[in-house]
Amino acid sequence: MVDSKIKLAIVGVGKIVKDQHHPSIIKNPDYELVATASRNGFLDGIESFKSIESLLANRKDLDAVSLCMPPQYRFTAAKFALEHGVDVLLEKPPGATVCEVNQLEKLAVMNDCQLYTTWHSRHAPAVANAKRFLSQPQLKIEEVLINWKEDVRKWHPNQEWIWQAGGLGVFDPGINGLSILTHILPASFFVETSILKFPENRAAPIAANLSFTSEDGYRIIGEFDWGISGGEEWNIEVITDQGKLILSSGGAKLAIDGEPQEVEQYSEHGEYESIYREFSSLVSNRKSNVDVSPLALVADAFLLGERIILESFDE
Ligand code: NAP
Repeated sequence: MVDSKIKLAIVGVGKIVKDQHHPSIIKNPDYELVATASRNGFLDGIESFKSIESLLANRKDLDAVSLCMPPQYRFTAAKFALEHGVDVLLEKPPGATVCEVNQLEKLAVMNDCQLYTTWHSRHAPAVANAKRFLSQPQLKIEEVLINWKEDVRKWHPNQEWIWQAGGLGVFDPGINGLSILTHILPASFFVETSILKFPENRAAPIAANLSFTSEDGYRIIGEFDWGISGGEEWNIEVITDQGKLILSSGGAKLAIDGEPQEVEQYSEHGEYESIYREFSSLVSNRKSNVDVSPLALVADAFLLGERIILESFDE
C-alpha cells in the first residue's frame, strides 16, 4: 500500500487493457485510474482523451501511465510522458527496437522518472518455482527446448499491426516464452541460428526455428509457430542432471520428472495483478526496472534469420 494513491492513466485501450489491465488496476488500492487516452477506445465511467498529448495537457495531476498500444507506436508516447515527468509502464514488448528502449531508459533518468518494462509471463504462477529449481548450485543443465505455438486466427484476429514491420509476427507471443527463459536460466544465452518463415504477403514471420548457445555451453532449441490448430503449446523443457523440468501452459504448470509440482493458484488476472503490485513498489521506491533481453534475442533472430517465403496468409 502506498502513502497516497498513484494517479494512473492507460494509453491505447484495446484487447489487453479490457482483458487484464483494467480489472487488475481497479482491484489494487494503490491506484486511482483517472483517465484513458485512445483514438477510439475508452472505459466506461473513466474520463477519456483522444491522445496522450491532450491527456497530459488536461491532467497535470497524473503520476503514471500504462502504455498498451502496439509496440511500433509506444516510443513516441513514452518519450512524451517521461519528458512531462510521468512514470511509465510499458506493455510487452517494450518497444519496436532495442535502442529505442535504451533511449527511454536514459530519458527516465534525465527526467527523474521510473520506467518499467513489463514481461507478464514472468509473473505466471509456476515461473518462480522453476527458477528456484534451476538455481540449485550443483545442478547442471544439459539441454533446453522451448515450444511456443498457437493459432494466430484464434489469438490475433484482425490485428494488422502484428503482421507489419515491428509487430514481431510469431514472436509477439514467442517473446513471452523468451522472457521466461531469460528469467529462469542461470546463464545468459545468444542466438546461433535462425530460420524465419514469412507469408509472401506479410512483413512479419508466421513461424521460426531458432537455436541458441548458453554461456555454460548447453544448447537451446526454439520452435515458434502460429499455424497450429486445436490448442496451444506454450512449453519449456529443461533437461538437467537432477531431473527433467517441464514448465507448461505459458508458465502456469510445472512438473519435474513427470511429477506435477504444487504452485500458487492464480485468478485469471494473476499475472497482471502481480505486475501492478511491482509497479506500485517501483513508483513508491523511485526505482526503474528495465530489461530488454527478450527483445534483444528477437532482434538477433531477425539479424541472423535465413528467410523462407511461404504462400500468402489471409484471415
Ligand atoms: P490491440 O487491441 O490491437 O491494440 C491496442 C490498442 O492500441 C487499440 O485498441 C488501438 O486503440 C491502439 N492502436 C492500434 N493501432 C494503433 C496505432 N497505429 N497508433 C496508435 N494506437 C494504436 O492490441 P492488444 O492485443 O491490446 O495488444 C497491445 C499490446 O499488448 C501488444 O504489445 C501486445 O503484445 C500486448 N499484449 C497483448 C495480449 C493479448 O492477449 N492481446 C497479451 C499480452 C500482451 P485506439 O484505436 O483507440 O487508438
